[in-house]
Amino acid sequence: MPPISTQLFGFNITSFSSLQQLTDYCLENPAIYVSLNAEALYHESKELTDVVNKNIGYCDGIGAVFAVNLLNRQKIRKTPGCELWLSVLNKLKSEKIALIGAEYSTLEIVKKNIGADYPNVDIAYSHDGFFQNKEKVLNEIVQAHPKFVFVALGQPKQEQLCMELQRHLPDATFFPIGGSFDVYAGKVNRAPKWLIKLHLEWLYRLIKDPKRWRRQLVLPMFLFKTITHKLKIN
Ligand code: UDP
Repeated sequence: MPPISTQLFGFNITSFSSLQQLTDYCLENPAIYVSLNAEALYHESKELTDVVNKNIGYCDGIGAVFAVNLLNRQKIRKTPGCELWLSVLNKLKSEKIALIGAEYSTLEIVKKNIGADYPNVDIAYSHDGFFQNKEKVLNEIVQAHPKFVFVALGQPKQEQLCMELQRHLPDATFFPIGGSFDVYAGKVNRAPKWLIKLHLEWLYRLIKDPKRWRRQLVLPMFLFKTITHKLKIN
């Protein structure tokens, strides 16, 4: 089944039937691969729609999957960004990569783990996510000329950085991946598999980090907005 394109709240969402299909697509189509969840779609930020509509926005989150399935009467699967970047690394041979984001100590663990898990990959550049001189970091990345760039700064900062880099590295593929370095380094745990299967990962994150409640409140509001939209277009 080819990727499905869906329009919702100004976003062009591209849905894939599996993580494998999305991985293969990324390897052949240089672009910025933006993970979309209920929060991103609900806020309809112009900044984010611009990046997504010039690149690829995929469903990372049960809210986005629900919306696409409701609008298309299709059954697509969630493709989490924190799994996508590892699936891409797994397919690389000796390509140059860049890693930008997270705290210094986290990034050090990420680099060490990549060295052990994906020994062929060439880490051409890395920098933690707390830098003052953005121009300097941008220049250094461009000089390193990576083919795959993984940026973990949180939305929308990471997408903005990718857009700026893409102007200088048009053939590179970019992955803005939020807290994925924290997960891979073991600083943050993902929900247990059975909770992920029940589509309750958002609940686990809420319990683990109650400060997120305001962000999580968006999920029911997004579902309501999507259903209203569906009723209007029918
Ligand atoms: N971060 C960073 N620089 C910043 C702000 C955040 O490197 O200026 C990192 C932060 O350490 C964390 C990630 O960005 O590793 C954001 O994680 P979060 O869970 O907020 O992102 P989400 O997955 O929710 O988009």
